[in-house]
Amino acid sequence: MNTDHPFSLFLDSFVPEIARKSKQLNKAVWLLETTGSQDAADLKTELDTELRLFFNDKNTYNNLLKWDQDPSLQDPLLKRQLNVLIRSFKQYCIPTDLLEEIARQETTLLHAYANFRPRLDGKTLSENDIRTILKEENDPVIRQKTWEASKQIGELLSPLILSLVKLRNQAAKSVGYSDYFQMQLDLQEIDPSWLFSLLDEYYVLSEEIYTKTIQEIEKDQCSRFAVTADLLGPWAWSEPFSQEDPVDSRELDSLMENVDICQMAKKFYQKMGLDIQSTLDISDLWEKPGKNQHAFCINIDRDKDVRTLNNIKPTLKWAETILHELGHAIYELGFTEKTPWLLKEPPHMISTEAMALIAGRQAYLPEVLNSLPNPSSHHSTLVEKAKKSLARRQLIFSRWVLVMTYFEQELYKNPEQDLQALWWSMVHKYQKILPPKDPNRTSDWAAKYHIGLAPVYYYSYLLGEMLASSIEETLLQETGNSSIATKEAGKLLQERLFEKANTLHLEDLVLHVTKKPLSSHAWIKQYAL
Ligand SMILES: [Zn+2]
Repeated sequence: MNTDHPFSLFLDSFVPEIARKSKQLNKAVWLLETTGSQDAADLKTELDTELRLFFNDKNTYNNLLKWDQDPSLQDPLLKRQLNVLIRSFKQYCIPTDLLEEIARQETTLLHAYANFRPRLDGKTLSENDIRTILKEENDPVIRQKTWEASKQIGELLSPLILSLVKLRNQAAKSVGYSDYFQMQLDLQEIDPSWLFSLLDEYYVLSEEIYTKTIQEIEKDQCSRFAVTADLLGPWAWSEPFSQEDPVDSRELDSLMENVDICQMAKKFYQKMGLDIQSTLDISDLWEKPGKNQHAFCINIDRDKDVRTLNNIKPTLKWAETILHELGHAIYELGFTEKTPWLLKEPPHMISTEAMALIAGRQAYLPEVLNSLPNPSSHHSTLVEKAKKSLARRQLIFSRWVLVMTYFEQELYKNPEQDLQALWWSMVHKYQKILPPKDPNRTSDWAAKYHIGLAPVYYYSYLLGEMLASSIEETLLQETGNSSIATKEAGKLLQERLFEKANTLHLEDLVLHVTKKPLSSHAWIKQYAL
């Protein structure tokens, strides 16, 4: 180890500072998310800025680039830390006024999303109202009007989003990229041609099974709404973007009646020899006022303080979610003492998503469902349905990811094109859903929150699913068991995946864990054949 190298000396003073600041920031985030307190929000903003200042330093950035060219710096862990830092500093080379303008416009957009409520026949609707109507209403006219109402926000926000897209592109160009999409992929170490060859292949391989599934769905829709197939459209689905299986899942929730969902999750991890009690003890598990209504996992100190936030209810979705979030937790808890602080993170969200998805899928499988107490009389029918629903959900959602990713790539490449036409050509191609007949619609694409506010991230969900299947396949093959809920599988995950933390590039980590490059083949075998 080059301990006397200037970079190593720099790390000795730099890392303790950012480690301290980021722990403070994470604690503020936790307080904010569990209470909704304004003080916590102010503190978070303050700490965010303070942390950002550490990276907004041209001199240090130039030193990092210089050390990157130094042939005497050979130690792989030092080189990897250097790589992580260069990518962190690079995004702050964008002119400060531009970064501030982007932040300002994002806040405006965020508020607009939070406060907008569509109107239908003189009444104001919430997001939940729209979802309820799309789940329960059988009248095609009311459904169509409701679906259209869900897109009102797109008309309002498209100019704001387009302005942001152009600013983001300007920022990317200022540091040498062709557009923002390309910059984000590069900063996340994702090669665009690698990404799109994976997605292209997935599209082809899943085409047959998706065509069959969509025919089943349309048959149900035609009979439920008493219309012919040529009159179907996005209004016939159970939520506004057709990203979920329209088949009612409430029946499956009865599987979770009287089940202690935390205990179920704990038992699953115990079978793998992984102890999640320390995380459960400090997690915020139940609904309460002011609290974030979704779920996430947060590593407060890159040591043992790993917590999850949940809002558990007795549904299959929440059983999946708690298993999922604890999957992130077990991954983070698996980093070892000897790993440098800067590398105690996954190389990309894809690898930790994969672990979380593997765990979440268990909620739909007989292995877990059959070990629950007090099964009902039609338990076995429900277990069979749950397993089938897992495959359909994944298939439907993955096609939606294709729409989002290909659209975003095009949006940043050329924001001036006819985006409405582009959007529906993607929906038609990948989801096989007919566009709405109304020629006056202009901005349906802009109604999706992630387009404006969580850009260049959606692809990670699908690559996470692919990697999850590939890792599951490896675990079963190498342990010779029919289930991944074994001590051997847990040990393999710990040694090959968690312990590596961010010491390897994602593609090298995938090779290390599964002995083959990432592809959709294992996913296809598991769910589409
Ligand atoms: Zn996740």
